[in-house]
Amino acid sequence: MAADCLFCRIVSGEIPAARIAENEHCIAFRDINPQAPTHFLVIPRQHVASLDQVTSAELAGQVLLMAAALARSEGIAPSGYRVVLNTNADGGQTVYHLHAHVLGGRALHWPPG
Ligand code: AMP
Ligand code: ZN
Repeated sequence: MAADCLFCRIVSGEIPAARIAENEHCIAFRDINPQAPTHFLVIPRQHVASLDQVTSAELAGQVLLMAAALARSEGIAPSGYRVVLNTNADGGQTVYHLHAHVLGGRALHWPPG
Protein backbone atom coordinates (compact mmCIF):
# COMPACT_ATOMS: atom_id res chain seq x y z
CA MET A 1 0.00 0.00 0.00
CA ALA A 2 1.19 3.50 -0.86
CA ALA A 3 0.17 5.80 2.00
CA ASP A 4 -0.57 8.79 -0.19
CA CYS A 5 -2.51 6.86 -2.84
CA LEU A 6 -6.24 7.51 -3.15
CA PHE A 7 -7.02 4.10 -4.62
CA CYS A 8 -4.95 2.25 -1.99
CA ARG A 9 -7.17 4.01 0.54
CA ILE A 10 -10.23 2.73 -1.28
CA VAL A 11 -8.78 -0.81 -1.26
CA SER A 12 -8.20 -0.58 2.51
CA GLY A 13 -11.68 0.84 3.11
CA GLU A 14 -10.33 4.08 4.57
CA ILE A 15 -12.14 5.99 1.82
CA PRO A 16 -15.63 4.77 0.85
CA ALA A 17 -16.51 3.82 -2.71
CA ALA A 18 -19.52 2.30 -4.43
CA ARG A 19 -18.01 -1.16 -4.74
CA ILE A 20 -19.56 -3.54 -7.21
CA ALA A 21 -17.16 -6.52 -7.01
CA GLU A 22 -14.02 -7.75 -5.36
CA ASN A 23 -11.86 -10.82 -5.26
CA GLU A 24 -8.39 -11.64 -3.94
CA HIS A 25 -6.72 -9.75 -6.80
CA CYS A 26 -8.91 -6.75 -7.67
CA ILE A 27 -11.77 -4.52 -6.64
CA ALA A 28 -14.26 -2.64 -8.82
CA PHE A 29 -16.24 0.47 -7.95
CA ARG A 30 -18.30 3.12 -9.71
CA ASP A 31 -16.45 6.15 -11.02
CA ILE A 32 -17.34 9.22 -8.95
CA ASN A 33 -17.62 11.32 -12.13
CA PRO A 34 -19.23 9.00 -14.67
CA GLN A 35 -18.66 9.68 -18.36
CA ALA A 36 -21.24 7.17 -19.60
CA PRO A 37 -24.41 5.57 -18.20
CA THR A 38 -22.21 2.72 -16.94
CA HIS A 39 -18.72 3.74 -15.81
CA PHE A 40 -16.74 1.77 -13.27
CA LEU A 41 -13.09 1.21 -12.45
CA VAL A 42 -11.24 -2.05 -11.87
CA ILE A 43 -8.05 -1.82 -9.83
CA PRO A 44 -5.56 -4.33 -8.46
CA ARG A 45 -5.36 -4.53 -4.67
CA GLN A 46 -1.60 -4.26 -5.04
CA HIS A 47 -0.26 -0.75 -5.66
CA VAL A 48 1.10 -0.39 -9.19
CA ALA A 49 1.35 3.20 -10.39
CA SER A 50 0.38 2.74 -14.03
CA LEU A 51 0.39 0.33 -16.96
CA ASP A 52 3.94 1.55 -17.56
CA GLN A 53 4.92 -0.10 -14.25
CA VAL A 54 3.16 -3.43 -14.75
CA THR A 55 5.44 -6.47 -14.77
CA SER A 56 2.92 -9.19 -13.90
CA ALA A 57 0.87 -10.82 -16.63
CA GLU A 58 -1.23 -12.34 -13.84
CA LEU A 59 -2.09 -8.93 -12.39
CA ALA A 60 -2.85 -7.42 -15.80
CA GLY A 61 -4.97 -10.42 -16.71
CA GLN A 62 -6.94 -10.36 -13.49
CA VAL A 63 -7.86 -6.69 -14.07
CA LEU A 64 -9.05 -7.42 -17.61
CA LEU A 65 -10.94 -10.57 -16.59
CA MET A 66 -12.86 -8.67 -13.91
CA ALA A 67 -13.58 -5.84 -16.38
CA ALA A 68 -15.06 -8.29 -18.87
CA ALA A 69 -17.02 -10.27 -16.26
CA LEU A 70 -18.58 -7.10 -14.85
CA ALA A 71 -19.37 -5.75 -18.32
CA ARG A 72 -21.43 -8.90 -18.78
CA SER A 73 -23.11 -8.72 -15.36
CA GLU A 74 -23.81 -4.99 -15.79
CA GLY A 75 -25.54 -5.80 -19.08
CA ILE A 76 -23.34 -3.71 -21.38
CA ALA A 77 -21.47 -6.53 -23.12
CA PRO A 78 -24.00 -7.30 -25.89
CA SER A 79 -24.27 -3.67 -27.03
CA GLY A 80 -20.57 -3.03 -26.45
CA TYR A 81 -18.27 -1.15 -24.15
CA ARG A 82 -14.79 0.31 -23.89
CA VAL A 83 -11.90 -0.47 -21.53
CA VAL A 84 -9.46 2.42 -21.10
CA LEU A 85 -6.14 2.55 -19.28
CA ASN A 86 -5.04 6.18 -19.25
CA THR A 87 -1.27 6.08 -18.81
CA ASN A 88 0.93 8.96 -17.65
CA ALA A 89 0.37 12.62 -18.39
CA ASP A 90 -0.47 12.66 -22.10
CA GLY A 91 -2.68 9.63 -21.57
CA GLY A 92 -4.79 11.67 -19.17
CA GLN A 93 -3.90 9.71 -16.04
CA THR A 94 -4.73 11.61 -12.85
CA VAL A 95 -4.67 8.82 -10.25
CA TYR A 96 -1.39 6.91 -10.18
CA HIS A 97 -2.72 3.51 -9.13
CA LEU A 98 -3.42 1.28 -12.12
CA HIS A 99 -7.09 1.32 -13.07
CA ALA A 100 -9.12 0.13 -16.01
CA HIS A 101 -12.09 2.32 -16.87
CA VAL A 102 -15.07 0.37 -18.19
CA LEU A 103 -17.56 2.56 -20.05
CA GLY A 104 -20.78 1.57 -21.72
CA GLY A 105 -24.49 2.13 -22.06
CA ARG A 106 -24.15 4.56 -24.97
CA ALA A 107 -22.30 4.70 -28.28
CA LEU A 108 -18.75 5.90 -27.64
CA HIS A 109 -16.90 8.14 -30.06
CA TRP A 110 -13.65 7.31 -31.83
CA PRO A 111 -11.02 8.65 -31.91
CA PRO A 112 -11.00 9.95 -28.33
CA GLY A 113 -10.10 13.58 -27.78
P1 AMP B 1 -7.69 8.76 -14.67
O1 AMP B 1 -7.90 10.19 -15.09
O2 AMP B 1 -7.64 7.78 -15.80
O3 AMP B 1 -6.50 8.65 -13.75
O4 AMP B 1 -8.98 8.35 -13.89
C1 AMP B 1 -9.19 8.56 -12.53
C2 AMP B 1 -10.66 8.37 -12.33
O5 AMP B 1 -10.89 8.20 -10.94
C3 AMP B 1 -11.52 9.54 -12.78
O6 AMP B 1 -12.46 9.09 -13.76
C4 AMP B 1 -12.20 10.00 -11.49
O7 AMP B 1 -13.52 10.43 -11.71
C5 AMP B 1 -12.13 8.77 -10.64
N1 AMP B 1 -12.15 9.01 -9.21
C6 AMP B 1 -11.40 9.88 -8.51
N2 AMP B 1 -11.69 9.80 -7.19
C7 AMP B 1 -12.61 8.82 -7.05
C8 AMP B 1 -13.31 8.26 -5.94
N3 AMP B 1 -13.10 8.68 -4.68
N4 AMP B 1 -14.22 7.29 -6.17
C9 AMP B 1 -14.45 6.86 -7.43
N5 AMP B 1 -13.82 7.33 -8.53
C10 AMP B 1 -12.92 8.31 -8.34
ZN1 ZN C 1 -2.24 2.70 -4.72
